[in-house]
Amino acid sequence: MKEKQRYIGRFAPSPSGPLHFGSLIAALGSYLQAKRQAGQWLVRIEDLDPPREMAGAADHILRTLDDYGLHWDGGIMYQSQRHDAYQAQIDAWLQSTQAYACECSRKQIQQAGGFYPGTCREKQLAVEGQAIRLKQTEPVTSFIDVRYGNMEIPEALAHEDFIIRRRDGLYAYNLAVVLDDIEQGVTEVVRGADLIEPTGRQIGLYRMLAKPEVSYLHLPLAVTSQGYKLSKQNRAPAITADQAVPTLKAAMGILGLPVHDLQLLPDDRDSLLQWAVKEWHPDLLPNEQSVVEPF
Ligand code: GLU
Repeated sequence: MKEKQRYIGRFAPSPSGPLHFGSLIAALGSYLQAKRQAGQWLVRIEDLDPPREMAGAADHILRTLDDYGLHWDGGIMYQSQRHDAYQAQIDAWLQSTQAYACECSRKQIQQAGGFYPGTCREKQLAVEGQAIRLKQTEPVTSFIDVRYGNMEIPEALAHEDFIIRRRDGLYAYNLAVVLDDIEQGVTEVVRGADLIEPTGRQIGLYRMLAKPEVSYLHLPLAVTSQGYKLSKQNRAPAITADQAVPTLKAAMGILGLPVHDLQLLPDDRDSLLQWAVKEWHPDLLPNEQSVVEPF
């Protein structure tokens, strides 16, 4: 009999700011889903875009996870140390003409309707100083989310030859995330619902690379009472170590865990997390994929 593959999950924050309540939900949800299946939970720092990073944010995120009792398995992967792997894949695709250089400006693409129409596909431009795009030979227009079922992806987005390396030399998120998840043996991706759209491109990448696909679970996003996503861009406040237990309880509530009877819940951080691992199931997640944050 074939041995069941061991569950490997991960949390992959970008260090553009300290850990805030919105990212705690992704951290906790991916942690619970891994631990409930006696799996591994990895942490990867997605420091792919230095201009958008904040000095000290990566360390703050790791320290806060530790303070919240979310201890990861194994070492931390940093995307800033993975450039050789990304470049090797891009070179292989350039060689096989699966990828090509593109000189189009953002304005030209806007004028063409907002989606890149493949203008440079056959131009055979030199790669120096140009963006690199991947020929989309595996367009994915829908996928099945573990909790939310069938997710549709807009046709034009699915068919676009997307950028894998920017003109300024930075590697693109979709490429890095898939190569890293493959490298780390990740079997399921659990993250915020803001990443539903790129999932199609990521599944397409697994197919082009002929690698076994992973499953996806997208967690509800915490939004402000005005409906904005909590994010580093709109300066969601950092969460603090002294508030670990109430903040974890609030995040558990958003994930649908039965936290209403607070008296029955342990007040000790580690017992609280053990309780949550025992209770957790993705079916508990609310029907709505955005939930107003409690603060
Ligand atoms: N680094 C991404 C972010 O912080 C998450 C990537 C992922 O989970 O696939 O939004």
